[in-house]
Amino acid sequence: MPEPDRRTLPPGSVIGILGGGQLGRMLSLAASKLGFKTHVYCPDPDSPAFHVTDRRSLAAYDDAVALAAFAKTVDIVTYEFENVPAETAAALVAHVPVEPKPSILETTQDRYAEKSFIRRQGLSVAEFDAVSSAAEVEAAAARIGYPCVLKTRRFGYDGKGQAVVDHPSGIARAWLEIGGKPAIAEAFVRFSREISVIVARGRDGTMRTFDIAENRHERHILRTSTVPAAIGAATAKAAREAGLAVAQAFDYVGVLAVEMFVVGDGAAETLLVNEIAPRVHNSGHWTEDACQISQFELHVRAIAGWPLPVPRRHCDVEMTNLLGAEVLDYASFAAKPDVVVHLYGKSEPRPGRKMGHINRLIPGGSS
Ligand code: AMP
Repeated sequence: MPEPDRRTLPPGSVIGILGGGQLGRMLSLAASKLGFKTHVYCPDPDSPAFHVTDRRSLAAYDDAVALAAFAKTVDIVTYEFENVPAETAAALVAHVPVEPKPSILETTQDRYAEKSFIRRQGLSVAEFDAVSSAAEVEAAAARIGYPCVLKTRRFGYDGKGQAVVDHPSGIARAWLEIGGKPAIAEAFVRFSREISVIVARGRDGTMRTFDIAENRHERHILRTSTVPAAIGAATAKAAREAGLAVAQAFDYVGVLAVEMFVVGDGAAETLLVNEIAPRVHNSGHWTEDACQISQFELHVRAIAGWPLPVPRRHCDVEMTNLLGAEVLDYASFAAKPDVVVHLYGKSEPRPGRKMGHINRLIPGGSS
């Protein structure tokens, strides 16, 4: 008889999830589908993942006592939220396996470290410089050119901590707007489209990619992801390869997303990598209904050491985020036979808040 793979986590094991948002909720549901139990750790009592988990810890990310107690109850820890303090994940490592490795967070939590890492993999990024004063912004912008974008190095998401500088006279205002924090100044990219690739990598180094999604943002918040993206085959191949290169370089275990800008059209298309998300990603929600396996299940399988099937897409699809009060129309979405509704169970539909998403399946299309 072959030796069992001792690193494979059997059903019944407990997966700890740091972060209790909708991504944690969907991870927990996917884990449950495979017979795992989950324990969600989050400081926010109104966490959507708390509704669908076996155990919950309501505690701060720097609460060493709560973290140690959490670690005792789980067989492995993962996260759904990349701004989990790297020290928190690192402290857990002493007690329990953590995947993806916390050292990866140190890179992706700092835009300068992240862009430098991407560049070291031989991938193209928009020109950028680290800046820590208005004078440094001026020097960086003189080199990079106008317009350029200021982005805080840390804790930016959905466009928060970003400001566009069109002209030297706008530097002081932009610097104030981002709170005068250490930042990068980055060339403004006149992209033709935005795309992303979702990559899974297993403990044995097996890697899988989903088809490339084309993403449309409104006010910096993802609005729709459409698959397939309207890009050439060579661009799609390059995008997949960029994702694989990142996952390989990190020795990554789990699912990650790489967001990219496509510049130019047709034969002239080129790619610039914008951002890495070391977790399941909003632009991968379409996989829940258009593929035989979702990004969430692939993540759970990857960290549990299970086999990773090649994702197969059985139709074209458009995912739309339901923001704020849009969720109140749930019944009209639910009445459409080609629409699959996902709601996060959040109580307050504040403007711009991600309350759910719908996947509109487009029959006839397939990869
Ligand atoms: P980020 O927080 O870097 O993912 O940026 C959020 C969104 O802002 C991106 O998806 C783009 O739509 C836009 N954006 C970010 N960086 C740039 C850039 N350098 N040039 C043009 N648009 C950008």
